Amino acid sequence: MEKILVSACLLGSQVRYDGNHNLIEHPVISRWKQEGRLIAVCPEVLGGLPTPRSPAEVQSRFPLLVTDRDGEDRTPQFLAGAELASDIAREHNCCCALMKARSPSCGNRSTYNGRFSGELVNLPGVTANELIREGRPVFNEEEIDQLIQFVESRDLPREAENSTRYATTCG
Ligand code: SF4
Repeated sequence: MEKILVSACLLGSQVRYDGNHNLIEHPVISRWKQEGRLIAVCPEVLGGLPTPRSPAEVQSRFPLLVTDRDGEDRTPQFLAGAELASDIAREHNCCCALMKARSPSCGNRSTYNGRFSGELVNLPGVTANELIREGRPVFNEEEIDQLIQFVESRDLPREAENSTRYATTCG
């Protein structure tokens, strides 16, 4: 069974900038958790930021600049977090990721535009971008049906392969 990288806050860890979490309750996610398929990471904490922390937004992509609401440059921590999260995904051979929507680290489709005004741009967060660049599909918590479909489409050939191997061994 292939593993899935998951934003730790979606599994209930209180690692959000405000010390809260974004727990999602879904029977398939709970089952995967029980089966040990989920690898939880919080890139911002991995990168060395404390919890709680001032919220950050991506200011520019080329070159990358991430600052928090107090104007502190958080680019090094965001880059370190992305690198470590992607190392972990590689180590566990994760087939894909389930990441928190709109986060400057984890957002897969959109992020806030850097002005702390609540407006979005259609660009991924720093870690999601790294995972996508490495060829790992990233889904967010609003795309769980697509995630399940993707994971099941990969599980089926493996199950078939295992049952063939079993039949050969037992035959
Ligand atoms: Fe959640 Fe990702 Fe933000 Fe950590 S960096 S709190 S995992 S959205």
